[in-house]
Amino acid sequence: MIVVMSALASARDISEVIARIRAMGYEVHLSEGKERTIIGVIGRGRPLDREQLGLMNGVQQVMPVTHPYKIASREYHPDDTLIPLNGIQVGGDTLAIIAGPCAVEGRSEIIEVAHMVREAGATALRGGAFKPRTSPYSFQGLGEEGLRYLAEAREATGLPVVTEVMDPQLVSMVCDYADVLQIGARSMQNYALLHAVGESQHPVLLKRGMSSTIEELLMAAEYILSHGNMRVMLCERGIRTFETSTRNTFDINAIPVLKQASHLPVIADPSHATGKWEYVESVAMAAIAAGADGLVIEVHPDPEHAQSDGRQSLKPERFAALVSRIAQLAPVVGRRVALKVAAD
Ligand code: PEP
Ligand code: MN
Repeated sequence: MIVVMSALASARDISEVIARIRAMGYEVHLSEGKERTIIGVIGRGRPLDREQLGLMNGVQQVMPVTHPYKIASREYHPDDTLIPLNGIQVGGDTLAIIAGPCAVEGRSEIIEVAHMVREAGATALRGGAFKPRTSPYSFQGLGEEGLRYLAEAREATGLPVVTEVMDPQLVSMVCDYADVLQIGARSMQNYALLHAVGESQHPVLLKRGMSSTIEELLMAAEYILSHGNMRVMLCERGIRTFETSTRNTFDINAIPVLKQASHLPVIADPSHATGKWEYVESVAMAAIAAGADGLVIEVHPDPEHAQSDGRQSLKPERFAALVSRIAQLAPVVGRRVALKVAAD
C-alpha cells in the first residue's frame, strides 16, 4: 500500500501518518518528490484500515499496490530516478554509454582501451575482474589484480568503473575499486548478493536474468531498494528464446514496459543480447529509439584474441562510429550524448 500525501501536508501530518503505520508493525519508505511526499508501507504488519488512514490530516489518497514490488514502482516514485555518473545524470537527458572489454585482461590493455573508449565518447568504463563463465575451464578473470588495473584506468582517464561482483563476501572489496557494481544475468536471483549490494549503498547495474521475466527483474531490484539503496540501473541484455541466429533475443518490449512500471533508469546491452558485433549498432539504435537511458557496449582492440566475448566485441573505431550514429539519433528522442562526438 502507498499513502499519497497532499502537496499541502505539513511535516507533522507526515510524521503522524508514519507513526500510525509503524505502530501496526510495518516499515515505511519515504519518496519525497517535487510535488508531494509518498509513503510506502513495507513488510508484514497487522491489518491497516485504509479508510481510517485516508481520514488523517494531509492524506490525499491511500492506494493498494497491485504488483509485488513497491519501491521500484512508478506509483511509489512518479519522477524518474536520476543517478549521477561522471558528470551526467543517468535517467536524464544525456545517455550513459558504458564501454570496455568483457574482461580485464591486463594492466596496459585496460588502460589502453579506457583511453580509446573515452576518446570515442564513453561515459564509463566496463570490464570484468570476476567473470561468471559457463565452463569452469574458461578464463575466470584476474580477480583483485583486475580491480587494481581498473582503478588505474580510472585514474588515467577519469572514467568511472563498472564491474561485476558475484560473491556477497566480496562486495566490500569490489566497492573499494568500482564506481558501479554490476550484477550479472546469472546472479540476478542470488538474493544474498542482492541484499549485500543493497546494504553497500553503492550504485548498481542490475542485469536481467537470461530466463527472467520483467517482473522478476523488478523484484530483484526491490531487494536492493529495500535497503534504501535507490541507485539501481536496470539492464536489458537479451533473454533466451528458441531463436539461434543470435546469442540471445533482445527484448525491445522490456524498455517501454520497464519505463512505465518503474522510475529506475533502463540501460540496454546489445552486445550480450546479439552475441555478434555486426548486429550491435542496429540494436543499440533501436534501444535508444525505444527510450533506453544508456548502453553497455563491449569494445576490444583485438577481438579475435579476446579472452572472452570477442565475437560480440566492437573494435574501437567501430565503437566510435556507433557513438556518432547514436549522437545523431538521440535528439529525435529528446536525448543527447555527452561528448564532442555530438558535434561531428
Ligand atoms: C558481461 O557483462 O560481460 C556479462 C557476463 O554479462 P551477462 O551477465 O549479461 O551475461
Ligand atoms: Mn561479456
